[in-house]
Amino acid sequence: MKQRDMAEHGRRRWRLVLTASPLQGHMTPMLHLATFLHSKGFSIAIAHSELNRPDPSNHPGFTFIPLPDNLSATPSFANAVQFMQALNDNCRPHFLEHLVQIINEQKDSSDKESIVIIYDNLMYFAGSVASDLGLPSIILRTSSASTFPVFKIIPLLHQDGRFPVQESMLQEIVTELHPLRYKDLPFIGLPIEQTLETINIILPKTPPSAFIWNTLEFLEPSGLTQVRNHYQVPVFPIGPLHKIIPTPCSTSFLEEDMSCISWLDKQAPKSVVYVSLGSIAYMDEKVSTEMAWGIANSNQPFIWVVRPGSVKGFEWIEFLPEGLVTDMKVRGLIVKWAPQKDVLAHCAVGGFWSHCGWNSTLESLSEGVPMLCQPYDLDQKVNSRYLCYVWKMGVEIVVERGEIEGAIRRVLVSKQGEEMRQRAMEIQEKIKVAVSHGGSSQNSLKELIDFILSL
Ligand code: UDP
Repeated sequence: MKQRDMAEHGRRRWRLVLTASPLQGHMTPMLHLATFLHSKGFSIAIAHSELNRPDPSNHPGFTFIPLPDNLSATPSFANAVQFMQALNDNCRPHFLEHLVQIINEQKDSSDKESIVIIYDNLMYFAGSVASDLGLPSIILRTSSASTFPVFKIIPLLHQDGRFPVQESMLQEIVTELHPLRYKDLPFIGLPIEQTLETINIILPKTPPSAFIWNTLEFLEPSGLTQVRNHYQVPVFPIGPLHKIIPTPCSTSFLEEDMSCISWLDKQAPKSVVYVSLGSIAYMDEKVSTEMAWGIANSNQPFIWVVRPGSVKGFEWIEFLPEGLVTDMKVRGLIVKWAPQKDVLAHCAVGGFWSHCGWNSTLESLSEGVPMLCQPYDLDQKVNSRYLCYVWKMGVEIVVERGEIEGAIRRVLVSKQGEEMRQRAMEIQEKIKVAVSHGGSSQNSLKELIDFILSL
């Protein structure tokens, strides 16, 4: 069967309604998934909040369904629960109305379509609307599968008196989660009620028809097995999504500073450290100042992304001494937002200092770039532990200028760094195989399409 015919299989047609979350690290993989499914002939509608809306001009083949949300800013960790609740409560009515309208139009038409909802787990209202209307729904998960058992066990650790975690336990291994230590668990320091509420949002109570997971079978076999055993529905690990789309598409909320690439073209191979802590993390002035001194003292070329407003109390980098900034600019770039995937794919980049968000982790693994790990919360600490202890291609960073200087040099110019790079490149090769014809992610994508056609 020709690809284009697949979504019109047996004279039926499929309309996929993908419900995207307004967080950058969730929006990008959802749009990549949509791009892939569109290339296979499916009709695509993207339902999205008005906050951080995708740019329709980058996706001319899709229909867009804006959902009024009454929200003005992306959340911090501290107010994530209230944000998610407001987002879901506010987006639900319009989404329901829109689907009812489509269903009613189809009743009077000979042109019948099967509607399937694919939604980000943070947009759980879409699952509940699908269930109310009797439509099949599939969840796209954009964080690591290894985090699933962690979220699942926290309520039990709480009942057992092991969570919130006592200071004396932080370095110990959580027996049920080897190799994770108590310090690698998310939500340490958050009030327990808020922790349990957040987990309630992240883990669906009613299983969807299936899960699509932005990961790879070989990378996270144990996490995926636990998801399958728990929910007893198909799970399709089809990642990394940015490597399966036919052509790259722009998904950034902020403008990418393309001068990064022409600057990298002038640097020596594997000499540059790329520093970015993702789209959500906020830092205080002290942390950012230590980062600046550590980068400067390492004497390595660098690109440092400082998102506007990401240092509390400042618009950008005004808190740094002018002399330090001038010195730093001799050897590197400080930018507001980088074309990260292209930067990591550039041969001049030798290390990635990251907060270990799952997209950043997959992007680094896909290019064989070793990492310096500075996780904040959620799945980042779990990802960091896997990078450093299981995949052995990362080092944990302590945010103090001397420690940072040492860590940068260790990754870029030491034997230990070279060994980490070798391991990172082995993973990169396995990823290439997984996304090629006959590889595990490609096979999963085929199974996913068959699954959608069977709904
Ligand atoms: N990103 C980017 N340019 C930057 C910083 C980040 O394009 O300067 C992208 C990055 O490639 C990744 C996403 O933003 O796809 C961040 O997602 P991740 O899951 O790593 O972290 P989050 O932002 O959700 O904490």
